[in-house]
Amino acid sequence: MRKMDWIDEEKERRQHGVNRPLLQSEHAEVNARYPGCTLEYCCECGKATGRAGRCDDSLFIDDDGPYCKECFDARVESEELPLDSLSPMPDNASGREEKP
Ligand SMILES: [Zn+2]
Repeated sequence: MRKMDWIDEEKERRQHGVNRPLLQSEHAEVNARYPGCTLEYCCECGKATGRAGRCDDSLFIDDDGPYCKECFDARVESEELPLDSLSPMPDNASGREEKP
């Protein structure tokens, strides 16, 4: 029997319902060996985000995440993040635009 590595351990944990957040690169590695094994769970409510395995479409706000759509929207709303921060850097990256 071969030695278990972290990928096997991760799979085992998940079979027992224990999940920890994985980096996207880790999801990719786990899913490369066990397709569909990892599911990404919302860091806020714990629900599956339905986004794992589809590589880069996870919802993050800065370094926080992943979020499910509901929590993502709720957080965006509650923090009134400028839409700029959710998309690639605008041309004038000098900071928030102040409305008069
Ligand atoms: Zn959520």
